[in-house]
Amino acid sequence: MKIICWGARGSLPVSGREYIKYGGDTTCLEIRTAGGDIVVVDCGSGVRRVGNNLLKEKVRRFTILLTHSHWDHVLGFPFLKPVYDSKVKIDFHGCPFAQKSIQSVVAKIMEPPQFPINLGAIRAKMSFHDPCLKGIKVGTMKVTPIILSHPNQGLGYKFQENGATFVFLTDNELRHKHPGGCDYREYAAFCSGADVLIHDAEFTEEDYRRTRTWGHSTYKQALELALEAGVKRFGLFHHNQDRPDAEVDAMVEDCRRLAGEKGSPLDCFGVTQESAIEL
Ligand SMILES: [Zn+2]
Ligand SMILES: [Zn+2]
Repeated sequence: MKIICWGARGSLPVSGREYIKYGGDTTCLEIRTAGGDIVVVDCGSGVRRVGNNLLKEKVRRFTILLTHSHWDHVLGFPFLKPVYDSKVKIDFHGCPFAQKSIQSVVAKIMEPPQFPINLGAIRAKMSFHDPCLKGIKVGTMKVTPIILSHPNQGLGYKFQENGATFVFLTDNELRHKHPGGCDYREYAAFCSGADVLIHDAEFTEEDYRRTRTWGHSTYKQALELALEAGVKRFGLFHHNQDRPDAEVDAMVEDCRRLAGEKGSPLDCFGVTQESAIEL
């Protein structure tokens, strides 16, 4: 599988010279399976460019998985151009949590007066599935969800294909259990032995004195999970909207130092917009 990141920023899209390396678009990953299927994870502002590419490539069918319905993870949806093409088919998966269905979550993204058009303007054939904790298969790739520890809840996902495992846990507070969320131990077991773990690493320990219960982890907490789960590569994700590149670099360096001190071969990196990982 190939994992492409189109948005690694948390909470709010940002721009400016201090954000050039890690990028300013909010959460969106594109996963291309060995069999050529395409899965888009979240519709943050990064999804705009995914849509433009899919149109160029004339891709007529793909899957969208939502982690949760917080604004930064869905705000790009009306700008995903293939949804206005009647030849396109999209399978939408997620968990509605407090809402009636995943369709109602999507309908809320496009609703006047917050947006000038509603779901009725969409021409693509959209199928909505509310699998919650039921795993799904996309071609040859198996997708297993887990409930996040996050306000209003959310889903993390494990993607497995041809012996390779990628785990994506964004918006996950490891050291505070939100209603419906899992224990630290369950997240460690879920990530065990993954080739790549991309995890929420929004805060520093200093931030966390103020931000505990906001639904995000510190980079040291996420590193601890990566070490304990024995993953091969750990990507820091959901960069805070006020965190310039140099500060994210410092967090990554600190992770490398701490992993090295423990004698671990763990490879730590900050997830950058437009980066790709092949597994
Ligand atoms: Zn978020
Ligand atoms: Zn969130």
